[in-house]
Amino acid sequence: MRDENISRRNFLKSLAVAVPAGSALLQVEVVYAADLPKLDPADPAAKALLYVHDAADVDTSNPMAARFEAGQNCANCVQIQGEDGAEWRPCGIFPGKSVAAAGWCSVWAPMP
Ligand code: SF4
Repeated sequence: MRDENISRRNFLKSLAVAVPAGSALLQVEVVYAADLPKLDPADPAAKALLYVHDAADVDTSNPMAARFEAGQNCANCVQIQGEDGAEWRPCGIFPGKSVAAAGWCSVWAPMP
């Protein structure tokens, strides 16, 4: 029983050391979200979904853009993540990249 208490104490000590390390990891994650590389419209995945940095540049002659309507953009798409008002934000469809708030792709869907 006593050895068990000592083990618990050591475990709690190790947690106390781990918490500051965890908070450092949290900071790294926040910085990472702000520093995501911008999605290149020439990227094969971006091209496949007709992604453009500016919704005004949507190729409306492409049948995949048939659902496009003026006013649709990444900032009002259900897939957008990150902070409201930011010019570049993460997107659930293009993990590890940021998309332009003014952009658009064929996956666009309204926020609920
Ligand atoms: S899924 Fe939505 S937020 Fe992501 S690139 Fe397409 S339109 Fe923009």
